Amino acid sequence: MKQYQVSFRDVAAAGNSIHELKQMAGNGPEDKMLLQVFSGSMDRDAVDHIADELRKEFPEACYVGCSTCGSILHGDLCPDPYEVTCTVFESPSAKVEVKQYHMGRENVDNVIREVAQFANENLWVKMIFLYTTVWESSMSSLCSELDHVRQDVSILGGGAFNEALNSSSSFVFSSGEKAADHSIVFAFVGGDDLVVNTRYISGWKPLGKAMEITKAEGNILREIEGISAFDTYRRYLRIENDDNFLFNTLEFPYLINSHGIEILRHPQQCLKDGSLVMASDVETAGKIRLAYGDPVTIMEYIFQNVHDIRREEPDVIMIFSCAGRKAFWGDSEIGKETSAFEKIAPSSGFYTLSEFLRTNDHVNQHNLTLVIASLKEMIPGREEKKDSGVKEEDTTSRRYSTVERLANFIEEATRELETANSQLSDMNVKLSNMAITDGMTQLYNRTEIQRRITLYTEGALSRPLSLVMLDIDDFKKINDTYGHKEGDSVICALSDLLKKHAAGIRGASAGRWGGEEFMIVLPETGDAEALAVAEQIRKEFEAISFPLAGHKTVSLGVTKRKDQEDGDSLVQRVDRALYGAKYAGKNRSVLL
Ligand code: GH3
Ligand code: MG
Ligand code: MG
Repeated sequence: MKQYQVSFRDVAAAGNSIHELKQMAGNGPEDKMLLQVFSGSMDRDAVDHIADELRKEFPEACYVGCSTCGSILHGDLCPDPYEVTCTVFESPSAKVEVKQYHMGRENVDNVIREVAQFANENLWVKMIFLYTTVWESSMSSLCSELDHVRQDVSILGGGAFNEALNSSSSFVFSSGEKAADHSIVFAFVGGDDLVVNTRYISGWKPLGKAMEITKAEGNILREIEGISAFDTYRRYLRIENDDNFLFNTLEFPYLINSHGIEILRHPQQCLKDGSLVMASDVETAGKIRLAYGDPVTIMEYIFQNVHDIRREEPDVIMIFSCAGRKAFWGDSEIGKETSAFEKIAPSSGFYTLSEFLRTNDHVNQHNLTLVIASLKEMIPGREEKKDSGVKEEDTTSRRYSTVERLANFIEEATRELETANSQLSDMNVKLSNMAITDGMTQLYNRTEIQRRITLYTEGALSRPLSLVMLDIDDFKKINDTYGHKEGDSVICALSDLLKKHAAGIRGASAGRWGGEEFMIVLPETGDAEALAVAEQIRKEFEAISFPLAGHKTVSLGVTKRKDQEDGDSLVQRVDRALYGAKYAGKNRSVLL
């Protein structure tokens, strides 16, 4: 695969330049050539003229084109408003096809279904790249319809733009149709020997903690963690809504999580209420972080990617770079980013209004990002190329910028604070549990049971409430005969039994009242039901056989709250009931 490029300042020079391009491209079959045309001018007559010249010089070749705010010539910002790039495929099976659709006439679903069907039926298609006018800020429906294209096809593209950076006026054109707004052109590229690798590169890095998007509609980001989205800029970065707002936020856009990857979102406008109009959709309830763009860090990141792409040994590199990056760097410096790729292979492309790339089976709409395709043909029998002659940069000793170090400091400090916070809140939960729990049995302690009894007996309302009080029979003997350890395990066995029963009754709580005395609080429970619970516990406890002490028994008092009776008098009566059970011979329940 080879790539040739020409550019011209005046459309009058189109004829000569395109003739020159044809000389470079040679006399190979034109159905294996693909022309890309970028127009910095919105003059459609000029574009028609260029199209005439293309048909004259390349009558059989497909071309795609769009209006732009700048294009990439030999890896650098093209100095001229017009550029034509010719890619010549060398594989005998290489194939190119182009389709253009007016999105006003047909709806997105139908068009993209047709595109998907074409790709799905033509197995030679390996890559679809698209130039689209961005007719609404969110192109989510276009992106999700593209999911219907079989998953092994790479999909990438860019939004057409114009010199005035006016998002509402832009056009695309192709060998199929004339320049039109509200339109998309698709180029289908493939063949047996084509290898396509794609990636997105931003270089902007996350800054500080992840925050919750609490209010958003479509591409309007209203609130983050309950405060207006603009206030996050003011609070954390001292960015005001003044003439510099858009430039300042280019340095500090947001990172959101979309379909499993982190994507940059840049505000285009700040509304009066502090809502931000974003370049594309954000989702409510998603996480969002601030990001920072630091020139040194960005370039380091680009070099890392260049290093990776070099291993793919591409023949050509196709770049869709955000117009926002161009604004960030300025025209004199933007070429630094893309010329890094030119060192590996001829690099072409344009500055976009949104970049599109399929990643993890979904096409995402990016902002402030470089979407890159590295293309090569692996033609069997053809000698493997090629030492590019460029020495690999040493990427082992990485340089960090001051900004990156500070951002790293914030990141680590935030992480440490978050860990300390979560340990603290775990500890708080543990402490408040400890304050209400008996350490040995893990039942509620007496204070907590007393509090609950008071709670249920407060106020004039007289809701049903019953208490069951228990005491192990002849417990002293266990201690005296078999030792405290055996005594403890009898206490714990009864406690487990009480826990099990309390868990099965709505609102019930079981607590340790004293040494081997226990209390069960049964709200919304009458005395008959409470007595049944007591008897069940008594029988189940009696059935347990302890290793040394054998079978033991328990006595129980049961009582129900009388009208508006207070907790103390209720507890006194249940205590009397328990005494009654002991007095009557133990191992029984007495209701009073
Ligand atoms: P009764 O049938 O009348 O209840 O006779 P009893 O022997 O069980 O008498 P009482 O209920 O007064 O006995 C309480 C004893 O429980 C006294 C104390 O030494 C013992 N005790 C209290 N707490 C613990 C404990 O946590 N572990 C052990 N092993 N013994 C305890
Ligand atoms: Mg006892
Ligand atoms: Mg006792």
